[in-house]
Amino acid sequence: MINKTFNYINQKLLIIIFIFCIIIVCISLITVYSSRIIFTEIDRFEGIEIETVMNTCEKYNAAIYYPTTENNLVNRKIKSFIDTYIKRIENDTKYFIPNDDNDKFNLLIEYEIGRVNKDIVSFIFVINYSNKTASDTEIITKNFNLKSGKELTLDDFFDKGSDYSSVLCRKAIEFLQSNKEINDKQLNWFVDDITNSSLNSFDGYAFTNTHLSVYFNSNKLSSSYNEIYEFKVYWDDVKEFLKKNIYYNDVHNPESKSVSLNIDNGIEDDIENNLYFPAFNINITNNDKVIALTFDDGPHYIYTDKILKYLGKKNLVATFFVLGNRLEYNKELLIRMVDLGCEIGNHSLSHKQLTNIRDKEVINQIETVNKSIKRITGYDIRAVRPPYGLSNTKIQKLINKPIVLWNIDPQDWKSKDPEKIKQNVLSNVKSGSIILMHDIYETSVDASIMIIDELLKQGYKFLTVSQMLELQDTNTNGKIFTHKK
Ligand code: ZN
Repeated sequence: MINKTFNYINQKLLIIIFIFCIIIVCISLITVYSSRIIFTEIDRFEGIEIETVMNTCEKYNAAIYYPTTENNLVNRKIKSFIDTYIKRIENDTKYFIPNDDNDKFNLLIEYEIGRVNKDIVSFIFVINYSNKTASDTEIITKNFNLKSGKELTLDDFFDKGSDYSSVLCRKAIEFLQSNKEINDKQLNWFVDDITNSSLNSFDGYAFTNTHLSVYFNSNKLSSSYNEIYEFKVYWDDVKEFLKKNIYYNDVHNPESKSVSLNIDNGIEDDIENNLYFPAFNINITNNDKVIALTFDDGPHYIYTDKILKYLGKKNLVATFFVLGNRLEYNKELLIRMVDLGCEIGNHSLSHKQLTNIRDKEVINQIETVNKSIKRITGYDIRAVRPPYGLSNTKIQKLINKPIVLWNIDPQDWKSKDPEKIKQNVLSNVKSGSIILMHDIYETSVDASIMIIDELLKQGYKFLTVSQMLELQDTNTNGKIFTHKK
């Protein structure tokens, strides 16, 4: 009897142990499976939107672009990092009185994206902080797992037990030595830094599905240098140091290329035909009151979408002076603008003050946007609006297209009060007005909708800026604007 009971207990215990073991095995299998990092081909913009902070005051101009993702924890981390720079420029200019516009402080934050797969993303921020006397460029990389919100480091990819850090450092030194743009003084400094600080000497690193990018910033040596060097390590070249859970893309490329980081949307070859933005036939007589509504600094995935819907509903056109660095995120919006007969104008690549930069950079700021818009929509830019409306004869020559400013500025970016913005516009509006708005703020779009309703009631006809300029040029009664070929 005792033996029987014992057997029974024993049996029960064995079953419990067996179930327990199965659970353990399942958990470990799930852990191993879910910790796998599989590199996949993915559009690097997928699931990421671009946000902008555009602060202009008499003391400084700040143009800041940062990404937002589907993970709020990641978004909060990025925002707090961005906020430190806004606070810095506010503090630095607290007691500063500029003599003129060229005396202002400038802050420009741009970023690029690296992508390993849907979850693992790298943001490469390039921060330029300058005033009349000094210019400082900094590179800061942030790598995230968008699923968990965790910030990633090299240890998440490389086997900690391996000597991967000396391998990366050796490869980095070889790259720097082979780069002809780096002079001996810079090279010695970099090599010393790598020898002493190992991985901490890297100014940033980012992950993609084919390679690891390591960045070196010559600005940290001396403010007279302003280059960022990118050094690529293909995963296949360091495969024996990778963690076991890494399933990388088998890209064989033994050469690490020397690339100076250049944030743009890629310059494409010229497409031959010159198609200008279509405009629906609009019959204008001398008695008609005309207006051009213009939107700067977009497109924005929420607010531009909202204003386009309204323009579509009312069958009206407007002009969008877009920023080049937002175009890849918002291709569909650009195509909708064209479908509605709106005009797309060029507002530069990243809102740099053109009067403060070198000619080569001015051309880059304008040309890359012309080309991106042509590639995405098939149409050529007719009008350019330089950031802050600032240009000079030299810049006008470089741009070589009509420069279109505005004559009504309700300061919508400042007041953020739709009713106030509306009143400001309506109290100044007259036939021929070009109204400046910004489609990156909800309040501006809400104000625009109210303004449209009121101006329609007053009998205004809506034109794009190119139509308006053509009208002012010729002042022909009954001028018909057609789709130009
Ligand atoms: Zn602007």
